[in-house]
Amino acid sequence: MPTNPQTVTSPASFDAENRVIEALYADVVRRNKGETEFHQAVHEVLETLGPVLARRPEFADARIIERICEPERQLMFRVPWTDDSGTIHVNRGFRVEFSSALGPYKGGLRFHPSVNLGIVKFLGFEQIFKNALTGLSIGGGKGGSDFDPKGSSDAEIMRFCQSFMTELYRHLGEHTDVPAGDIGVGGREIGYLFGQYKRITNRYESGVLTGKGLGWGGAQVRTEATGYGCVLFTAEMLRSRGEGLEGRRVAVSGSGNVALYAIEKAQQLGATVVTCSDSSGYVVDEKGIDLELLKEVKEVRRGRVADYAELRGSHVRFVEAAGEGTGVWGVPCDVALPCATQNELDETDALALVRGGVKAVAEGANMPTTPAAVRVFQEAGVAFGPGKAANAGGVATSALEMQQNASRDSWTFARTEERLAGIMRHIHDSCATTAERYGHPGNYVVGANIAGFELVADAMLAQGLV
Ligand code: GLU
Repeated sequence: MPTNPQTVTSPASFDAENRVIEALYADVVRRNKGETEFHQAVHEVLETLGPVLARRPEFADARIIERICEPERQLMFRVPWTDDSGTIHVNRGFRVEFSSALGPYKGGLRFHPSVNLGIVKFLGFEQIFKNALTGLSIGGGKGGSDFDPKGSSDAEIMRFCQSFMTELYRHLGEHTDVPAGDIGVGGREIGYLFGQYKRITNRYESGVLTGKGLGWGGAQVRTEATGYGCVLFTAEMLRSRGEGLEGRRVAVSGSGNVALYAIEKAQQLGATVVTCSDSSGYVVDEKGIDLELLKEVKEVRRGRVADYAELRGSHVRFVEAAGEGTGVWGVPCDVALPCATQNELDETDALALVRGGVKAVAEGANMPTTPAAVRVFQEAGVAFGPGKAANAGGVATSALEMQQNASRDSWTFARTEERLAGIMRHIHDSCATTAERYGHPGNYVVGANIAGFELVADAMLAQGLV
């Protein structure tokens, strides 16, 4: 069928397409039982695609949605390892190679006890569209393990990473599948994984993993990129409303890699960040988070935010996690950056933020905002940047690392940061113009889903039924 993006969507065909999408979604739920986070991620994308199918009937003819919801390949494997006392442990490893329409599978590895196939599939599904939005040639994938790095010694982490890579290596390659970090996987783990890959394959294949150390193939700005990018995206959203970050009060959740560098960039742009958190609770520091101290506590001592509160002084309030209530989101702020984990910000939290006067929310983590909370923000006119767009700076800088590896080159911090800023601006603008083109100005959820989907779907059409 011919492509005609100008076709006006009649209400009848819009409804008909939504019914088709409903049926497709029901099928995804039936075929992927119990994978609730995956269902949620698929639902959040599909519910915005009705108008696209109405304008581009060739996507439905080619069964693009059915194909995109089914990973190209799913790997699950045993990861046996011994702890320091010689006790044997058996974990489960995952790699879901979701889509290679735009490039090699690309996405992080998460080591956390909550990891299961449904979590990896939700992350991999999101990654397809996020990676497409960067405008760089990377497909979508994700992996990880239910291994809990918390409390493990360096030697245990190394043995676990070596065992994990001893199975995974055969599925990787700089042109095939390129993992990186995510929750529980940082520079230390990437080092051990890279060492084992190199040893097994006898290849110094720099581009097979990203997030490497600066002395052995890593890229400047990769460590900072997700948090920096999230704040740059927020600044773009505010700018399009004639506002800025200067002088703003910002609430951040989390205290891992994404949170730390979101705090850093927000402070550089003149905002005051008053919160951060971890699973034990959150801190409120009205003088503004002392980032050097927080980095020391989290990255050197591998401590908790409670330790930060104690070291920082009596003006800091530490609130223990109660498991209910609005937690960190009860703190009034102009800008909220959820940088911890999925579904950490629910409807009650969103209502509290709106009451507190929040103007912009951007997801540093993957899917931290529940669908009901997203609706609250949208109905209240809050600028809302979904993770696919707002946290794409990390994977985009991974693609820049691959580019440098391929040319055996390394760029300066300034040059790389400039590229990152340009990419975040490009993502913002393409989400904004796509949302407008589909009659939802200012709706970055619609814009990100449709802009990402169109790029992947067009490539799939061109590449035939594979
Ligand atoms: N885990 C990050 C994300 O969620 C980065 C992935 C990568 O750099 O490949 O996008």
